[in-house]
Amino acid sequence: MSSLEALYQDILLDHHRSPRNFGELEAPQMKAEGFNPMCGDRVSVQLNLENEKIVPRFKGEGCSICLASASMMTEEIEGLRCEEALEKIAEMRDFMQGGEKNLEGDLSALSGVRRFPVRIKCALLPWTTLKEALDAKV
Ligand code: ZN
Repeated sequence: MSSLEALYQDILLDHHRSPRNFGELEAPQMKAEGFNPMCGDRVSVQLNLENEKIVPRFKGEGCSICLASASMMTEEIEGLRCEEALEKIAEMRDFMQGGEKNLEGDLSALSGVRRFPVRIKCALLPWTTLKEALDAKV
């Protein structure tokens, strides 16, 4: 394993062991649930807006890629406006579909997932679920 791969492993493990923003909101303004039958991953995303800034929570069970991706996602979108979060979702999707623009920060630890098409669904599930939650908002 290269040192870069080892670093990615550490980041993934860290998010898997101590997921950020894990739990539920008392009265979520937006929510959605996602399921990936390929792997059995389940994710629920809840959002509130405070002064138009996102307060995210997630819960889920599934593989480490999916849960780490969900944890990183909530870190990425916390404090963003809805339209900014939609841009992040588009960036993530572009990257997983082979786009040139690299992921930054902890998300870069998901770069290796692109080599495993089956796992791409795992990494994207939290993001498609987030999109559903945002789209459901009127
Ligand atoms: Zn999975």
